[in-house]
Amino acid sequence: MEIPFSESYKAKMVEPIRRSTREEREAWIKEAKYNLFNLRSEQVFIDLLTDSGTGAMSDRQWSAMMLGDESYAGASSYFKLKETIYSLLGFEHFLPTHQGRAAENVLFSTLVKEGNVVPGNSHFDTTKGHIEFRKATALDCTIDEAFDTQHEHPFKGNVDPIKLENALKQYSDRIPFIIITITNNTAGGQPVSLQNLREVRQLANKYGKMVVFDSARFAENAYFIKMREKGYADKSIKAIVKEMFANADAMTMSAKKDAIVNMGGFIAMRSKELFQQASVYNIMFEGFVTYGGMSGRDMNALAAGLDEGTEFDYLDTRIKQVAYLGNRLDEFGIPYQKPSGGHAIFVDATKVLHRIPREEFTAQTLGVELYLEAGIRGVEIGAMMADRDPITRENRYPKLEMVRLAIPRRVYSNNHMDVVAVALKNVWDRRDTITRGLKITYEAPIMRHFTVEMERA
Ligand SMILES: *Cc1c(COP(=O)(O)O)cnc(C)c1O
Repeated sequence: MEIPFSESYKAKMVEPIRRSTREEREAWIKEAKYNLFNLRSEQVFIDLLTDSGTGAMSDRQWSAMMLGDESYAGASSYFKLKETIYSLLGFEHFLPTHQGRAAENVLFSTLVKEGNVVPGNSHFDTTKGHIEFRKATALDCTIDEAFDTQHEHPFKGNVDPIKLENALKQYSDRIPFIIITITNNTAGGQPVSLQNLREVRQLANKYGKMVVFDSARFAENAYFIKMREKGYADKSIKAIVKEMFANADAMTMSAKKDAIVNMGGFIAMRSKELFQQASVYNIMFEGFVTYGGMSGRDMNALAAGLDEGTEFDYLDTRIKQVAYLGNRLDEFGIPYQKPSGGHAIFVDATKVLHRIPREEFTAQTLGVELYLEAGIRGVEIGAMMADRDPITRENRYPKLEMVRLAIPRRVYSNNHMDVVAVALKNVWDRRDTITRGLKITYEAPIMRHFTVEMERA
């Protein structure tokens, strides 16, 4: 008999979680104004809100923390991280920041001006927020295949080179850089192929533009390249990562994802001039250039996490767990963005709650139903997150309306995935009876999904 596949780690410390009753959850979600971000973590049984900062660090990372150098300037932890970034990603300069959006804030303060257009592949919400906050436009040039959830494509995160070139021609001087998100989070944790990264690089060269990678899940992207792209099966993840980043001038990183730390981020770049310009904002917003919002111990854990996060065995365990959940949903016929992504399953909410109009926030409603069913917390990636148009203030309806079930790294077992799958099946089985969506009673002017308040429509 073939030895079955299993996790490439074992547990050394555990954290109890508690089931609740449906009555408790009914009260809690009402109190939370039907916003899953407003729940207390004790009110959640399996928390798939995000894979950001929710991973379990390794014994190696924890021991690295004990060696943190907390010097204000020139800490050894800074140099350790600098060397790791250089050897792994190939960037000579880097600035630590407290998380990914802080990296965006610093870099975009340097590069984005009012009236600019920043083309890319489905910008992440904070990325878009930081662009729009500066009265610039985030232009989505993702391939059309990404918007049909049932269409199987190995690299659904890809940029459409024709859309990108049209944008480069149309907006020429208004474009400060092209931003490529790896993996493409908003389109379903879908990877971008190396061939596509090279095509983007060539277009950028042709039009004299910089390329920035929004790199939160770069290692998962490399795993998909190894598994799916011709010519990469025998290359190591680290070699593929090098080849990916060779196509970028700069990167922003939320280390809370593929670097498996609870908090942290950075910007890295080739240009010394860009580094110097960004350093001004880093010092203003984050901290001195050798710590920028992170403790020395956290930089140590980050350096170790970058190394572990780019190991094949770890990635194989992780991505196969996501696929496991996807396969369970297949058994029940529940529609989700296919193929399954790197960090999450994105359930196609409009296909499940087909009786709820999008004006009543279909995916948000499905997220609430799943919570009521078994205390599972996902997150809406749909009309709520898409916000209003900054000019017309009309609600925006993105092509996809999904509930994301993001899987924290090294935290849950496949038993937990079974609970999630069955809970979703129960909602799926009673989908015809769910007819009431939600309506907003309070919303913030930007990134409203975090703090929105709702009631039953
Ligand atoms: C998480 C994320 C960010 C923002 O990072 P934070 O650490 O949450 O501030 C930016 N881009 C992508 C693709 C992300 O996944």
